[in-house]
Amino acid sequence: MNFILASSNSHKALEFSELFAGELQVLPAPSSIEVDETGTTFEENSFLKARAYFEKYKVPALADDSGLVIEEWPELLGVYSARFAPELATYPEKCHKLLEMINERGLKTRAAHFVCTLCFYISPTEVYFFEGRVHGTIGQGLKGEHGFGYDPVFVPERKENDGLTLAELPEWKNENSHRARAVQSALSFFKESYRHKA
Ligand code: IMP
Repeated sequence: MNFILASSNSHKALEFSELFAGELQVLPAPSSIEVDETGTTFEENSFLKARAYFEKYKVPALADDSGLVIEEWPELLGVYSARFAPELATYPEKCHKLLEMINERGLKTRAAHFVCTLCFYISPTEVYFFEGRVHGTIGQGLKGEHGFGYDPVFVPERKENDGLTLAELPEWKNENSHRARAVQSALSFFKESYRHKA
């Protein structure tokens, strides 16, 4: 099955096509369209994006929405992760600001998780959602050179318990990220459903 990716980010198209490993074809959309992310949940925003691309191009569309949720302060980032501290130009600056705000607020726990929701809009009557999460904590500072966004302040839960951030664990992240986990559930669903239809 072929999907167009409802995103203006060509890196995402590449990342998704690698994660789907040829099992599902995910192609960049012919051109990007402006979609207002007015939803208050990851599901709603992924749905709004996938539906807009489906309606424009009349082919199955895949959209994702992702973000970082601070469990004791979910409204701080969540679906607004990309819009946090718009006055700051870079993610390292936003990460510093985030640490400052969390420290000032004096949270009881620094528990957090990344979420990725995928919406596969095949037709108006056939829409599927899949979610992947990575649980962890917000560290005390920025560490690591890999990844992007909030990776340098996020310490994923791993059995090694060595305090490494996602920005220090590129290989682990490839296999265990919220995106990778959402893709794994989508793939097992589509493989199973295809087997029954074949
Ligand atoms: P979007 O899914 O491209 O809209 O991204 C939402 C926001 O969450 C952006 O601010 C990203 O930087 C952040 N984000 C999403 N996934 C990751 C990740 O894997 N690492 C770090 N930040 C992420």
